Amino acid sequence: MHYRQLGRTGLNVSVISYGASPLGNAFRTIDEGEGIRTVRTALDLGINFIDTSPHYGETRSETVLGRALQGVPRESYILATKVGQYGEGKFNFSAEHVTQGFDESCRRLGTERVDVLHIHDIEFADLNQIVNESLPALVKLKEAGRVGHIGITGLSLKIFPAVLDRTAPGVVEAVLSFCRYCLNDTALDPLIPYFERKGVGVINASATGMGLLTDRGGPAWHPASPEIKEGCRRAVEQAKAIGIDITKLAIQFAVHDPRIATTLVGTANPENIRKNVEYAGAPIDFEAMARVLEFLKPIKNHNFTRGRPENRDPLYP
Ligand code: NAD
Repeated sequence: MHYRQLGRTGLNVSVISYGASPLGNAFRTIDEGEGIRTVRTALDLGINFIDTSPHYGETRSETVLGRALQGVPRESYILATKVGQYGEGKFNFSAEHVTQGFDESCRRLGTERVDVLHIHDIEFADLNQIVNESLPALVKLKEAGRVGHIGITGLSLKIFPAVLDRTAPGVVEAVLSFCRYCLNDTALDPLIPYFERKGVGVINASATGMGLLTDRGGPAWHPASPEIKEGCRRAVEQAKAIGIDITKLAIQFAVHDPRIATTLVGTANPENIRKNVEYAGAPIDFEAMARVLEFLKPIKNHNFTRGRPENRDPLYP
């Protein structure tokens, strides 16, 4: 396993990391024991960064993760959770709520302290509230020693500079972007030098596009347009027909970029986590990657967006 620095946090994170949304049944109803074995396998294989949220399965992901981490030395893993989103359409970014929500997350996770606390999906928030109320509440938790570093997450890209440009340096130390740096969509790329200048670490999530670049495809709730879903499904089949494992390439594509500290992959299957770690360390077949990029060309950078109208990215094409 290789490790990279997460911005200026001093955290040395594994290049591939564990996304715990599947523990909240995000993609299918999972077997809890299998989910717990997946977390333990991830740790055994050198994954040291774990991401969850009270939103995933309306607290179930945190509860199952807390059980999985029982007895594991706290200093052996880097734990991230989130505040602000607590279920489908359930948002509350007020200072009081994020502080209380953090306490509840800690109880479920069996810890007093998390290493990274993100504000979850800020495209659904009034960004004035994020800057003037939610972030200052997280800074207080940091000053109290209960939060190591603060991050922000979201699907739109414009929300990141919108907040970072209005926040004192060092307050936000990490961003978590998803579905915007993968084989079919690299719109995050031009923003990376900006994050580097700001000293903000980049966490990339959903290298498979939340399942689109896997055999099973995306879940029913997947917010991508029918064109994107169909374009990905076609590419999965074209790749398979010539013996190319598109999921392997999807993970390698994201992990390959040294400017991205870590790539979160979600699964509740120990075998998948084993494969993902193996993919991350294996040499890349660039010829196969070029073929797959060609298959995905018709939908390259086609995006989907969401959140408050003022926080949405323009749709491409
Ligand atoms: P992902 O791209 O990691 O895809 C997960 C899907 O891929 C699941 O269906 C899983 O079963 C499948 N999969 C994983 N490994 C596989 C393999 N080797 N072979 C076949 N299928 C495989 O998407 P994700 O889970 O949404 O993203 C990863 C993590 O990032 C999440 O669990 C979450 O922790 C985090 N995340 C955060 C945000 C946010 O903060 N807004 C958004 C998205 C994701």
